[in-house]
Amino acid sequence: MTFDKIIHHQAQKDILLRALHHKRLAHAYLFEGPEGVGKKLMALALARALFCTEGQGCGECAACRKVDHQNHPDLHWLSPDGSQIKIDQVRKIQQELSLRPLEGQHKVCLIDAADTMNAAAANALLKTLEEPAAGTLLILLSARPEFLLDTIRSRCQRLRFNRLPRRQMAEILEHRLEVTEQEALVMAALSDGSFKKAFGDRRELYLDQRKKLINALLALSDGAILPLMNLAEQLEKDKENLEDILDIFQSFYRDLLLLGQGRPEAELVNIDLRETLFQRARREPPDALLRKLEAIDDARFHLERNVNRQLALESMLLQIVAA
Ligand SMILES: [Zn+2]
Repeated sequence: MTFDKIIHHQAQKDILLRALHHKRLAHAYLFEGPEGVGKKLMALALARALFCTEGQGCGECAACRKVDHQNHPDLHWLSPDGSQIKIDQVRKIQQELSLRPLEGQHKVCLIDAADTMNAAAANALLKTLEEPAAGTLLILLSARPEFLLDTIRSRCQRLRFNRLPRRQMAEILEHRLEVTEQEALVMAALSDGSFKKAFGDRRELYLDQRKKLINALLALSDGAILPLMNLAEQLEKDKENLEDILDIFQSFYRDLLLLGQGRPEAELVNIDLRETLFQRARREPPDALLRKLEAIDDARFHLERNVNRQLALESMLLQIVAA
């Protein structure tokens, strides 16, 4: 990943490029912002620019290729072991960082999900932040910077990475994924600004499968229990996507609510289902829609707490149908 391939976060890119150019990089950066918006890509571009022997990350030299293949000996990664980054991991990295660089003049350590450091690990890392070795660059990545120690945050130069506005993200998706403008807008809305989601395996779910899921939901009728059980069973099996599927159902009923309130069509998520939305909006009073949305929220609450999934989903669908 080179800087010129990063298509957004221009201000952050400029700050880093200027610092690189004047050889005034901070010893530690904190890249903060939601999951999937490009923090790690930016960190890798910076590492590559530092290691590159031909320029600012040419992509061709041996050093650049090693960064891409994640086997550069001076690039170190720290990421949670289970749910936490532990002190042993920090100590091990500190040992590595105390040695001279093997290939160039720099050593870079990327700390992914830095907010998962437990207290002991964070306190150990403070030492490195307080007395950084020459040529060492630490880049902390975090979607929840408020969980980091104040003392850690204050020793890093902070760069904030925000989600892209929907329209801007859709333009990129339309161009990159060769989808239609409508599809791109749907994907941008559902991925909530996360390129990781939009470029990853969610594409199929957001486009084709979404329509099927919404149709299956709409086909349920009050009193017909078997199709409802079948749908619950189908959803239950799709554990990996369940959160996104609930997002899809939610987006549909929210769209109906927005239409009922006469909001502009540009605010709709499922704009490619315009006709269905308009037909349906006439039949669904706002209080029923609110009850359906509440049923989805309830299901989310229960699923997060690991209750019986099938039961939670059946109960959600029953409430939706009865609302
Ligand atoms: Zn290079």
